[in-house]
Amino acid sequence: MQMNFYMPTKVIMADNCVINHSEEFSKLGTKAMLVTGKSSAKKNGAQDDVIAALTAQNMEYVVFDKVMSNPTIACAYEGAAFAKANNVDLIIAIGGGSPMDAAKAISLLAAQEIKEEDLFSGNYGKEVIPMIHIPTTAGTGSEVTPYSILTNDAKQTKTSIAAPILFPEVALCDPKYMMHLGMATTINTAIDALSHAVEGMLSVKATAVTDVMAIESIKKISACHEALKKRELSLEDRGNLLYASTLAGMVISHTGTTAVHSMGYSLTYFKDIDHGRANGLLLAGFLRVVEKEIPERTSRILEAMGLKTVDELKVWLEELLGEKENITAEDIAKYSPIAIQAKNIMNCPVRVNEAQITEIYKESFGI
Ligand code: NAP
Ligand code: ZN
Repeated sequence: MQMNFYMPTKVIMADNCVINHSEEFSKLGTKAMLVTGKSSAKKNGAQDDVIAALTAQNMEYVVFDKVMSNPTIACAYEGAAFAKANNVDLIIAIGGGSPMDAAKAISLLAAQEIKEEDLFSGNYGKEVIPMIHIPTTAGTGSEVTPYSILTNDAKQTKTSIAAPILFPEVALCDPKYMMHLGMATTINTAIDALSHAVEGMLSVKATAVTDVMAIESIKKISACHEALKKRELSLEDRGNLLYASTLAGMVISHTGTTAVHSMGYSLTYFKDIDHGRANGLLLAGFLRVVEKEIPERTSRILEAMGLKTVDELKVWLEELLGEKENITAEDIAKYSPIAIQAKNIMNCPVRVNEAQITEIYKESFGI
């Protein structure tokens, strides 16, 4: 048996954990920068809870609420300049994957001088500003991953900064912030988490431990399928999805993602399709290719979902995704050469070539 496991993030998942663990903030700094999207953190109560916790600990704070969905490199540099100008020593990310990923890049760029052309080089020093992450969607698992994924216009895709220094110190996870998350985002993010767990199972870097976490995550998400279909989620369902997405985040911290994510980035970059939805549109097509060569892995995934065939998985996903976008053969001809160059392709156990990627895109969109 061989096994490596590294998860330096302290995860606290509990009702009211932000208020009840306010000491976590003062252990790490004295002046915090809150990194959020435009409005959700203010509306769902998370920002108020953080401010109450900081006040209880006599800490100062500033707010940077300019993170857009699929954050840009410019946003990360702007945030880093803001962090430096305000001399902050703690970064608190509140939001979905976009603010959490932006916060990681900000924490790196505020602590180290890194030129834009070297941003994705992987050659970084050790300094970062410590981070606490508070997820308000249940999907990306970014609160427990060492990845910051930014829109990369030079390459017309999304590219990951990946470095162990980007693991947040603490993740405070409370499903109450998700009670009013819209159903489209709820479904898309749940599918993102499912995709992380499934791709983790199919990665060449999967281990016995990541498999256990991935199976648990897949089961919890599957148990919410009916609620997601009905578009009625209880707090318990929200809690299960958050647990599942954090677990799946731990999985991809070890395994990385695979071709599904590489291919999904083009759908997001060129067609503005939400990240999780993009993965969901491609997942069954990818499994169909993989199934031919490693049927036992595919069966374990399907069994955990209570399904027997990839066709059933396709239906399972379509019931949540609804009508698909119109993607043409010309679109696909543009996306395939981009997807084949992504680093995550190397994690695929069945090494897919460009022609197979084109086939998966075509099958996924009925072309
Ligand atoms: P998101 O882009 O962070 O947020 C989507 C939308 O949901 C935004 O409009 C946001 O509003 C809103 N929102 C967030 N929380 C809410 C809440 N509790 N209630 C109501 N509205 C809420 O979406 P995401 O799917 O979570 O993140 C996607 C990003 O994560 C992509 O850039 C993807 O590449 C990345 N990602 C990262 C990893 C990783 O390991 N680092 C893994 C997978 C995906 P506001 O803008 O107002 O906040
Ligand atoms: Zn993802």
